[in-house]
Amino acid sequence: IEDCLRLRTGCAQIDDLTRGGFRFKMINEVYGEAGVGKTQLCLQLAVAVQMPPISGAAFYVCTDKSFPANRLLELSLSVPSAFGLSGDESLMDKVFVEHSMDFIALRRLLFVKLPKLLENVRISLVVIDSIAAIFRSEDIKYLERSKEIDDICRQLNHLARTHNLVVVCVNQVTDDPNSDTSGPSLGNAWANYVVCRFLIERDWTNGIRRFRVVNAPYLKPDACRFIITQSGLH
Ligand code: ADP
Repeated sequence: IEDCLRLRTGCAQIDDLTRGGFRFKMINEVYGEAGVGKTQLCLQLAVAVQMPPISGAAFYVCTDKSFPANRLLELSLSVPSAFGLSGDESLMDKVFVEHSMDFIALRRLLFVKLPKLLENVRISLVVIDSIAAIFRSEDIKYLERSKEIDDICRQLNHLARTHNLVVVCVNQVTDDPNSDTSGPSLGNAWANYVVCRFLIERDWTNGIRRFRVVNAPYLKPDACRFIITQSGLH
C-alpha cells in the first residue's frame, strides 16, 4: 500500500492526471520556462506534504538569494483547504529552507545536513529549486559536471529509498539556438536518473498553464490545465 501512496498537490486536475500526485522513493523532475509556475508548485507541495495521511516535513533547497517566504506563508493559510483542513502559519516551521548556489554546497546539504536532520525530523519531501542553477556555472568542465550530477543523484536516490521521500527537482528548458526542440537541460547525465518527468507550459490563453506528463512509468503522456491564484494552483 505504501508504494501506492502519492503526494497530492491539492490541485484537482494535476492530482487526477497523475493518479494521485507525486511518487515516493524516486527523483521527479518539473521543468519549464522561467515564470511558468515551477516554484509555485514546489511551495504548494511543501505545504501539501504536511497534510494527512503523509503529515511529513519538507526540505527545500533554494538556489536563489531569497526564498519566497511570504508566498509560502500565503499558501500555508490557503492550501490546507484543498485537504479539508484549515490553514495555519505554523506550517511554515516544517519547511526547512537551505540555500545553495553550487554543487559543493549542495553536496554538503545532501551528504551531511539532510542525513543529520532525517535522524530527528520525519522529512517526506525534498525539493531542489533548481538543479539547473546548481550546474549552470560555466567553470565546471563537462566530465566533472557529469560526475557531480552522478554523485548527487545517487545520494538523492539513496535517501529517497531509505527514508521514503518524494524528491522533486526543478529544471529549466534548454535554450540552444541551434535546436528547434526545447527540452529539459543537463543532458543524459541527469536524465538517466529522472524517473518521472513533468513539464509546465503556458497555454495559449492568458493566465492558463498546462501540466504535462512527459515521461512516467505508470502514466500515459497527457496534460491538464490549471491556473495560479493567490490561494495556489487550481
Ligand atoms: P518558475 O517557473 O520560474 O519557478 P514561479 O513558480 O516563480 O515560476 O511562477 C511565478 C508566477 O506565478 C508569476 O508570474 C505569477 O503568474 C504566479 N504567481 C505567483 N504568486 C502569485 C499570486 N499570489 N497570485 C497569483 N499568481 C501568482
